[in-house]
Amino acid sequence: MSRIFNFSAGPATLPQAVLEQAQAEMLDWNGSGMSVMEMSHRSKEYISIAEQAEADLREILAIPDNYKVLFLQGGASSQFAMVPMNLLGDLKQADYFKTGIWSKKAIAEAKRYCDVNIVTDSEANSFTDIANPNTWNLNPNAAYVHYTPNETINGLEFQSIPDVGDKPLVADMSSTILSRPIDVSKFGVIYAGAQKNIGPAGLTIVIIREDLVNKINTPPSIFSYKTHADADSMYHTPPTYGWYLAGLVFKWIKDLGGLTAMAKHNQAKAENLYAAIDKSDFYNNPINPAYRSWMNVPFTLNNADLNKDFLAEAKTHGLVTLAGHRSIGGIRASIYNAMPQQGVQALIDFMNDFAKRNG
Ligand SMILES: *Cc1c(COP(=O)(O)O)cnc(C)c1O
Repeated sequence: MSRIFNFSAGPATLPQAVLEQAQAEMLDWNGSGMSVMEMSHRSKEYISIAEQAEADLREILAIPDNYKVLFLQGGASSQFAMVPMNLLGDLKQADYFKTGIWSKKAIAEAKRYCDVNIVTDSEANSFTDIANPNTWNLNPNAAYVHYTPNETINGLEFQSIPDVGDKPLVADMSSTILSRPIDVSKFGVIYAGAQKNIGPAGLTIVIIREDLVNKINTPPSIFSYKTHADADSMYHTPPTYGWYLAGLVFKWIKDLGGLTAMAKHNQAKAENLYAAIDKSDFYNNPINPAYRSWMNVPFTLNNADLNKDFLAEAKTHGLVTLAGHRSIGGIRASIYNAMPQQGVQALIDFMNDFAKRNG
């Protein structure tokens, strides 16, 4: 068996140790005589898996007690609707940062429910920069403020939490959650699809401050945070296997030293890759260095005619899924938690060699 280095933006590479443990437990989880996939979500065995996963996530993210953690279906895209459905209350306006393609999607969905005020708009600079905070336009009548800490497609990442006063701050952390420590108490809601940094697709994690769960509103039950919070995410069948696998990933992070260790690992990988891009006159990354993503590194070849050759040759070196998003083109290396330093080094070595041969 040979594993390649998979730079996919999502679903993305998972830690090999986690996959091996899942494999070992596939037919018989812990003497139960069945696979986790075959268990009732109400069984004693499954509840123990679910509770352990939540406890480990709470520990590694240091989630305060006044926050609920929900394990839902629907993907991050479902949260684009659930956030306004649940958080507007009596208000009819919300603030959104527009810093990339994912925040644009969140904005488009929110407009179905409320008036959206754009706090700052990076579209004019093709989502390569974020304007100075003293130019931000926050609306005092907004019910909440939404932003996308890491724009997966554009490779633009906030390196600190924006100061939005005392409005609930809502963050789509799909592609950055668990990449570094964060102060959860600064947020009203954090949500993330699992398939970037947590586990398999199909699981969506929502971390929500309790007072926001109890807002008075009446979305359909399945789209209500209160429904899921009151039922400990067991209102209906949760994505049981994804929840289990996420639990294995949380344990893997704990064993490696938690999010402080993870941040060191991720920062080093990103710095090495950006340094290789910056010191060549063959490759280019357009993002303001103050906002470069640790997780998704888009870059272009100065001669775009060579893109196809680059991707094809990279593949023969076991470096795959490096094509940029179809809306942007070029190359994108997604280097989430589970991408080892050796994978990034193999990519850098290949880039240097390709530049030498084609420059
Ligand atoms: C991948 C991604 C999404 C979409 O997630 P789905 O689970 O496919 O709905 C939304 N936001 C961000 C930032 C993403 O990276």
